[in-house]
Amino acid sequence: MEQPHALLVASPGLGHLIPILELGNRLSSVLNFRVTVLAVTSGSSSLAETEAIRAVVARGTCEVTELPSVDIDYFVEPDATVFTKIVEKMRATKPVVQDAIKLMTQKPTVMIVDFLGTGMMSIADDVGMAKYVYVASHAWFLAVLVYLPVLDKVVEGEYIDIKEPMKIPGCRPVGADDLMETMLDRSNRHYRECVRCGEEIPMTMSDGVLVNTWEELQGNTLAALMEDGELSRVMKVPVYAIGPIPNSIFEWLDKQRERSVLYLCLGSGGTLSLEQTIELACGLELSGQRFMWVLRKPASYLGESSNDDDLVSVGLPEGFLDRTRGMGLVVTQWAPQVEILSHGSIGGFLSHCGWSSVLESLTQGVPIVAWPLYAEQWMNAAFLTEEIGVAIRTSELPSKRVISREEVASLVRKVLGEEDEEGRKVRAKAEEVRVSTERAWTQGGSSHSSLLEWAKRCCLLSFTNNT
Ligand code: UDP
Repeated sequence: MEQPHALLVASPGLGHLIPILELGNRLSSVLNFRVTVLAVTSGSSSLAETEAIRAVVARGTCEVTELPSVDIDYFVEPDATVFTKIVEKMRATKPVVQDAIKLMTQKPTVMIVDFLGTGMMSIADDVGMAKYVYVASHAWFLAVLVYLPVLDKVVEGEYIDIKEPMKIPGCRPVGADDLMETMLDRSNRHYRECVRCGEEIPMTMSDGVLVNTWEELQGNTLAALMEDGELSRVMKVPVYAIGPIPNSIFEWLDKQRERSVLYLCLGSGGTLSLEQTIELACGLELSGQRFMWVLRKPASYLGESSNDDDLVSVGLPEGFLDRTRGMGLVVTQWAPQVEILSHGSIGGFLSHCGWSSVLESLTQGVPIVAWPLYAEQWMNAAFLTEEIGVAIRTSELPSKRVISREEVASLVRKVLGEEDEEGRKVRAKAEEVRVSTERAWTQGGSSHSSLLEWAKRCCLLSFTNNT
């Protein structure tokens, strides 16, 4: 049998694009589907989207094409909600998707669009492929969305004026306060778009719905959607609970050995020169160790126009992503640092030594490669290295001299490598400090007692001052 080919169409915006890319990744890795993702991007502000796409392409599980942005400004009011703009953009992009399909050498077997793109579902009929909607949210949301057209008929006035939560058959009732903002103003066109979305999902427009939840988490709601009853009669088409499909940063980390990955992040604003970014990249490659790098635009590019927004290609050496595929993950913009540091596969943190980052590392027992950039970070680095012994540092300040790739590689091997004596010491010390962070906050522990002491004192003071 020919390998099934799934065509996934993502709506604009990272919040829609990433779940579709992750779904594609899953279809490829679990089902061995060929996967093509057509990404409808936001146009001018597409930097983050381009980066998310690049990261997925680097994993090699999906082919991703960024579609040219179709201008909708002339028929969408400037104050339209994001929801309406996305729905309109998806509708207007329909011919572009049709053209892209015509160019495909292997025709897709199935088309999956996210719920804001139901306006392009009919394309699937022209080509003769199955068609599904992906709701990257949970089953209760899906239930409310498909039941909204019913509420729209039976409820009079604005939802917000109804005191009692509204009944959704077989599910938890929903209070107006919990509804999406777009669902609230019924006189508005955006509300009508929402109702239309709720109608289009089940109205034989699709062969079914994939939802990012799982049986054990939302068994009752899923049953209400699927088993005979009022809600399933509205739903009409099968629902497949295929979640959780989380962000694959963690999926990738889950596959790595204990304490084997270096996490690199220079805080919320830290950037490097282009030259230093390239040396750092080459050093990582040279070290042969695994890494997860939160990459920011090199400092020398900061002031340039958003056209020059190709972050990875301006910051990284030619072919770096290909050569390090499987070894490392480059994340752009922002990473969930606390969760990453608490993951068991993280063995070291190359940090600018901002104090919050330091504490997040120490509470997880993760040793640090100190890379101070500004403010009190130099002091922090000296303290962590020389006094506490949980960090190793560069031979000179990175802000004064470019740290060479050889030195980077040596630091990385030290902090992660099992053989290195200095590395063994900082790892042992980091674990010791982790235990002390826990102890400090137990009942009667040092910080706990100190805070109680402070509370007693200030209450006493306020008592004395008031008498
Ligand atoms: N942070 C994050 N993701 C990033 C970058 C930073 O979550 O991609 C968080 C990090 O966990 C920390 C804070 O941002 O809590 C940065 O504070 P820190 O004092 O370390 O450095 P600053 O950004 O103030 O220099």
